[in-house]
Amino acid sequence: MSQMNDSAPKGVGRRAALSALAAAPVAAALTLGAPAPARAAAPKAGPARGLVRRFELGAFEVATLSDGMRAGEGPHPIFGQNVSAEEVAALLEANFLPAGRFVNGFTPTLVNTGAELILFDTGLGEGARPAMGGLRARLAEAGVTPEQIDVVVLTHMHPDHIGGLTEGGAPAFPNARYVIGAAEYDFWTAPGRDSGPTERVARLVQEKVVPLAERARFVKPGDAVAPGIEAVAAFGHTPGHMAWHLESEGRRLMLCADACNHYVVSLQRPDWHVRYDMDKEAAAATRKSLFGMIAADRIPFVGYHMPFPAVGFVEPLGEGFRFVPATYQFDV
Ligand SMILES: [Zn+2]
Repeated sequence: MSQMNDSAPKGVGRRAALSALAAAPVAAALTLGAPAPARAAAPKAGPARGLVRRFELGAFEVATLSDGMRAGEGPHPIFGQNVSAEEVAALLEANFLPAGRFVNGFTPTLVNTGAELILFDTGLGEGARPAMGGLRARLAEAGVTPEQIDVVVLTHMHPDHIGGLTEGGAPAFPNARYVIGAAEYDFWTAPGRDSGPTERVARLVQEKVVPLAERARFVKPGDAVAPGIEAVAAFGHTPGHMAWHLESEGRRLMLCADACNHYVVSLQRPDWHVRYDMDKEAAAATRKSLFGMIAADRIPFVGYHMPFPAVGFVEPLGEGFRFVPATYQFDV
């Protein structure tokens, strides 16, 4: 590589030298050896990837919709609170990930049962734009208007899941009814939650969720939102956090919501504590039991914070699980 640099004209970087090398045969063919004029440089457009992933699950159609992705510091000490930074760094390095920065994705799921459009979680909402809060744009890309949403299901009430319930102070999905975990609602609306560590979220719940309660059905594990779509206990991340199990024509999928929040750290080391988990031990127990079941049954899952498109499988690996991103399993 240093030889390439050495042969490049003074002041031309290695990258320019490499692209000049790559372009050279083409330029030579076009100009019979005369130097090719530089073309106008196009502005960088930023990372690009599809932000809607839609696939069939039996008679259902499932779409994962990116509300946004956010880079920040970590994963440690957000993940692995109860272990050393070095231990987390070693695990990340073994998985080809940097130790100092990580990207968190936010991915609501839309299920078309054939009879209804059911949206699971609503993203961060308008206050987080333009970087986040992209759910409505994704719905538009998917050809769905907010008015068409029949049901909004909340897996739990953290801000990145309830923020998109309103738009301009009004319900963002004006024709929807709501399905909400009873334990979750009862926790966040209990007297005294609007002070101390629960203050911020409890106030947001008062603003975003409580006004919708009259259009809500409050559910517990085992309850269904539609035939084949049932709530599954996944407590720990929050007191009433629930996953949702989908089954249609023998095809199954688990919407795991925030049962795991990092595709390497949370899954390979389910016992490591996570700052976002309100009850660390209960969340760890849920990770092990829920993903143990998914691994044993070899069924796919959607994880709200998995790398987009947030769909994959897990297989047992050591004390935890290895994440296997879905590719074309739903397309053949
Ligand atoms: Zn979340």
